Amino acid sequence: MGTKSLKIILLLFSVLISCSKDTGNSTEIIEDENGNPIEVDTSVNKKSVGDSANDLLSSGSFEKLILEILYVGELNPTSTTLDNFKEFLEARLNKPKGIEIILRQIEKVDQEFYSIQDIRNLEDTHRSKFNEKGTIAVSGIFIDGEYDQNTENGSVLGVAYRNTSFVIFEQTIREFSNQPLAPSLSTLETVVVNHEMGHLLGLVNAGTTMQTNHQDIEHGRHCTNENCLMFWTAETGEGLLNMLTGGSVPPLDALCISDLQANGGK
Ligand SMILES: [Zn+2]
Ligand SMILES: [Zn+2]
Repeated sequence: MGTKSLKIILLLFSVLISCSKDTGNSTEIIEDENGNPIEVDTSVNKKSVGDSANDLLSSGSFEKLILEILYVGELNPTSTTLDNFKEFLEARLNKPKGIEIILRQIEKVDQEFYSIQDIRNLEDTHRSKFNEKGTIAVSGIFIDGEYDQNTENGSVLGVAYRNTSFVIFEQTIREFSNQPLAPSLSTLETVVVNHEMGHLLGLVNAGTTMQTNHQDIEHGRHCTNENCLMFWTAETGEGLLNMLTGGSVPPLDALCISDLQANGGK
């Protein structure tokens, strides 16, 4: 083999290496609001929970929020839940160009248990909205089956797992709402979507700096106030039924709200 061909091989090799490096910055072709194909960098929507708290709360980089709600089979949230969710967000986020919710059915997977990796894969297959120009995008998936980390006394109802992604275990929520004397389906759904969104907004002490100390460290990124939306029991069916004795959706307490306000929120 001559020096020339060796050089060519080396050159090709280095081109290959730099190409494979580039795939770390994953891009995808999506449709913009006019239906035209555009290339977007999807890696900005695949960071850690809380990393986009300020982008979601403030209008500095993004003046609009688009929420893509995906659901399998017939497991869509109720229209009351979507209204409540929008109202909750409008009260806290500075989005002068609005908050838009898109609801879309996806193929049924029929899986009994889901790991977070399964859910990430599901999102990667179906998500079609990503940040572009002045719009930030959030994905929420309502699924069948249950979380593979559930225990006998802890049936997880929702998880925030990326900076702009959460999952709702809708089938589990429906099982709890069917129990005697349980709150309505809309009430349970609203608590869980609002709570998971609270995590994406950086609560508690997870991307949004605490203004006073109110983190329930024993339970991770949760609030110490048992009447607050961000109290840890809001995330499991067993805990939530206990918490909702009055049947109404718990609001964020003053401490959580002041954290959000200090990070660009309302
Ligand atoms: Zn939580
Ligand atoms: Zn709180």
